[in-house]
Amino acid sequence: MPHTAIKVGGATLQVGFAPGQLALSNERVLAWVEHSAIVVSDYYGRFPVASARILIVPVDGRGVRGGTTWGYRGGAIRLVLGSQATEEDLKDDWKIVHEMVHLALPDVDERQHWLSEGLATYVEPIARVQAHDLTEESIWAAMARDMPKGIPQSDDHGLDNTPTWASTYWGGALFCLLADVEIRKQSGNRLGLQNAMRGVLAAGGNHTLDWPIESVLSVADKAVGGHALAKLYAQMGTARFAPDLDGLWRELGIKLQPDGTVAFDDKAPLARIRRAITQPQK
Ligand SMILES: [Zn+2]
Repeated sequence: MPHTAIKVGGATLQVGFAPGQLALSNERVLAWVEHSAIVVSDYYGRFPVASARILIVPVDGRGVRGGTTWGYRGGAIRLVLGSQATEEDLKDDWKIVHEMVHLALPDVDERQHWLSEGLATYVEPIARVQAHDLTEESIWAAMARDMPKGIPQSDDHGLDNTPTWASTYWGGALFCLLADVEIRKQSGNRLGLQNAMRGVLAAGGNHTLDWPIESVLSVADKAVGGHALAKLYAQMGTARFAPDLDGLWRELGIKLQPDGTVAFDDKAPLARIRRAITQPQK
């Protein structure tokens, strides 16, 4: 199969197309892959792995239909793209950035897939706001709408013991949000989860390697000088922990309106933290 090499964020991406028809040109699809890789590279300071193979698989239908990421031999992503996918579908798509974010986390134990999916769920919209592809209003509205799905059920026993869709994706995302806010509180809003996860890459961690979750969290904590992640994992890993989410939105100055949009209160105590989270970083 012919491949096109794209150099981005210090990495080489080998992009190939499986047999099949696409309404979009290959050039347009390649530009979408490259742009998405830049979004992820800007969030992490570089592309998460030195090389990755990206396979575009055309199927019947519209839109970006799905994605899967592996970490062997440098990282690989398979993206299933509808043959009738349009320009708009590529602009609206979140799946490619979600998959690329997976490349930045070492492979953790099956029981801790919530960390992998939670990070991808939380980081993807933030990286896209930092790249000016989404607005702050749109992503906080989506988080205020969806994050309650991550609040544990009364009979849950922590993220490690609750392999449901809601707990894996939104319980994991809630962990990331709480960690981000806590790191920012402790660092006087100088550092956040973004810096912590950059620290994992800087220490050589990425999806091509297996690391225990304890190593991921301690390396990430060390990068921002604290124990926010390890402490949160002790609270949420194997015990039910339900934060006051409505209180957190109020503190961040996020008011969900009846029509599903949000209004910001810049006088709220953590409004500066909310703004810093979506601020592009060097
Ligand atoms: Zn995922």
